[in-house]
Amino acid sequence: MKWLVWDFDGTLAYRVGEWPAWTQALLEVLDRQTPGHGVDPELLSPFLRTGFPWHSPEAHHPHLASADAWWGALEPSFADAFREAGADEVSAEKLAKAVRRAYLHPDRWRLYEDALPALEGLSSRGWRHLLLTNHVPELEEIVRHLGLDRHLHGIYNSAETGYEKPHPEAFRAVLEDLPDSNAVWIIGDNADADVAGAKAAGIPAILVRRRREGVEPYCENLTGIAEIVRG
Ligand SMILES: [Mg+2]
Repeated sequence: MKWLVWDFDGTLAYRVGEWPAWTQALLEVLDRQTPGHGVDPELLSPFLRTGFPWHSPEAHHPHLASADAWWGALEPSFADAFREAGADEVSAEKLAKAVRRAYLHPDRWRLYEDALPALEGLSSRGWRHLLLTNHVPELEEIVRHLGLDRHLHGIYNSAETGYEKPHPEAFRAVLEDLPDSNAVWIIGDNADADVAGAKAAGIPAILVRRRREGVEPYCENLTGIAEIVRG
């Protein structure tokens, strides 16, 4: 059996919007709850650069295993951002609670144009697909909505496993489930979490979409994967 282990966000799919996904989600909450707010998105961003589980990949987080605990741990950061944007204490907490629903809104998620053709083409060459992602607890709903589930043999989601890439355990857990594999590749857009993490775990990896000097192999899009994994 030959396996391709894909990152999700920034590799196969993305959340639409002018701003980075989390800033965008908070903006959407403001747009809905306080139309005409005029808040500069740059005010929100600093509160979203720390505090997420993937910002501390060295830490195992079994205490965030329930979706409510996972989102609950982020609400103080969201509330801080809304306060910075001018919300009072009560409104900031209410707005913070609304981020979960906004972020997950199915209409905000898209597959990259080359995602399904790449998965299908590689499947026809005998490759099977898995997801290994640092993501939100409801990832499976997003994956289903995008029609990606029928191409996948399994999903390893950090919100459930408690291990964020590049933690070695995130990769070890996948390998442990693939004892009879002939080949395994990791594919992702993050040179640290995906590629360096995979290589440290002894798995070959391909960087896609976001080039980093010195990191090879690299593919601008997913059409080049087939040639690389053919070896
Ligand atoms: Mg990614």
